[in-house]
Formats: sequence, C-alpha cells, structure tokens
Amino acid sequence: MMLQVAVLSFLLCSAHSFSVKVLIDGSDESSGNTIEDDEFTVSARLEKANANLGKNLGDPVVIFGDIAVPSGLQNADPCTARGCLWPKAPDGNVYIPFRISRQFSRRQREIIIEGLRSFERTTCIRFTPLERQRDFVDIQSRSGCFSFVGRRGNGQVVSLSRQGCVFQSIIQHELLHALGFNHEQTRSDRDQNVRILLQNVIPGQEHNFRRIRTRNLGTPYDYNSVMHYGRFAFSRNRQPTIIPIPNPNVAIGRATQMSPTDILRVNRLYACNSTSSKRHLKPTQTDIFLKK
Ligand SMILES: [Zn+2]
Repeated sequence: MMLQVAVLSFLLCSAHSFSVKVLIDGSDESSGNTIEDDEFTVSARLEKANANLGKNLGDPVVIFGDIAVPSGLQNADPCTARGCLWPKAPDGNVYIPFRISRQFSRRQREIIIEGLRSFERTTCIRFTPLERQRDFVDIQSRSGCFSFVGRRGNGQVVSLSRQGCVFQSIIQHELLHALGFNHEQTRSDRDQNVRILLQNVIPGQEHNFRRIRTRNLGTPYDYNSVMHYGRFAFSRNRQPTIIPIPNPNVAIGRATQMSPTDILRVNRLYACNSTSSKRHLKPTQTDIFLKK
C-alpha cells in the first residue's frame, strides 16, 4: 500500500504544476441523496462488478476498489525509477499501444474503442493498436474492473469485465488509472471538500478512503470527476460514506464521462499543448481500429 502511495506521489511530483483557473460545472441537478439514485455511479458499478474479485487464481491484488498492485515487489517499485508516465513522441502526442481481447463482442469492442478515442478529442493521448511496442495496455475481461496506476512496463492488464464494466464512464475511469491518476476522494485536500463517514463503511474496506499525498496539478477538487466515488461507496448500512462539505446536498460521483477537470489534468500531467491536441486526428481512424 505504501508502495503504491509512493509511486503515485512520485508520479504526481514529476508533473509540472500550473495555475490556470478552471470553471467547475454547477451541480444543480439531483444530488442523489438515496442509495437507489446512485445505482449507476462509477463506484456503484465498480463495487458490483468487483464483488468476486480476488476469488480467482491469477487475479492481481486490488486495493482502493479497483487499483491493481503488482505482487512480488520488494523494495523500491521499479516504476519509480522509470517514471510511470507514458512517453511523449516528438510530435507532442503520447502514443499508448493497446490490445483488446477477443473475449469481447463486437458491440463491446466498439464501446471500448469509443472510450479510447474519447481521449483524442481533448488531450494529446493517442491510443493506437499494438504493433511491436514493448509497453502496452492489454484490455481483457477478467473478474471485475481494475487497472494499475501509471505505466508498469510490458503488457499491463486493464480489466473491463464483460459483466458490468463496459460503460463509457468505467472505461475512462480505468484508463485514467493507467495514465497515472488516482481516485478523487483520496486527494491530499479532500478533507476540505468531503467528510468520510468511516462508521458507515463495510468493515475491512476502510482503506478505500485513505488519503494520499497527491499533487493536484493546480486543479480544484472536483465532485464531477469520473474518478470520484459516489456518496454510498462501500456502505455497510445504506447510509452515506462520503458527504460533500460545506453543502451536503451537492451531487458527487455521478459523472458519466470525464469532467473538464479530468481532461485538464491529463493535459497537465502529460504537458499537452493545444497544437498537439488537434493534430493527427483523422475522422477515419475508427475504421483503422476496427480492422484490428
Ligand atoms: Zn478506480
């Protein structure tokens, strides 16, 4: 656990920090004050899909709900020496090779590809079909939705179980982990923005609410982040486990896609600039993806 924290801190420390103002969407919609309203939040879907995680031999160790931890690592995580960022190409884009398992139906494959492509429209991240590269994202249907944080080296599994993970929000959420991001409610400044009610948390799941010494890339805490868990995440008694402050009625964790702040963070972590974001974007690229 400490290892993962160290990795993330290193990762975020290595990114540049800026101070541009961000407009946060007003949250005037339904706040989802009952557990039923939260059925389709990212965290509710993750919890449901990950109910059996760890029961199969070969499942990685998963912490924080859906973050896989490499096993067998002793002292320093190799990731900290290499840097967990994906490398930037001379043209300013970050090309991340991917492979999608044949376990998925054609329709599911299309949804996953749409999730991969969603990064192209707003960032310099370019997911490209695997050719001969060493490091890549290996999208499989394992027993739940999970991902490692940052680039791990070689093929790294991003699991999107066919049962319960093939949704735009979950796909983006897991890919954001692979890009190096953690959950919003573990941010260093979360206690100014949410109150965690550990008394309502399922015993043994308290670690999901641990705070991490993150660097936040000059971006504000974002209730609408696709990385924010819902109000009832890991609740043992149908009572809230996360309450926003000062206004307890603000909607949290109900994003169905990356928020403007999520996008801004990707652009900052990978130092994308506006010229690289739009280049090399051809409308026919979906066809290339689908032929693979
Ligand atoms: Zn997650």
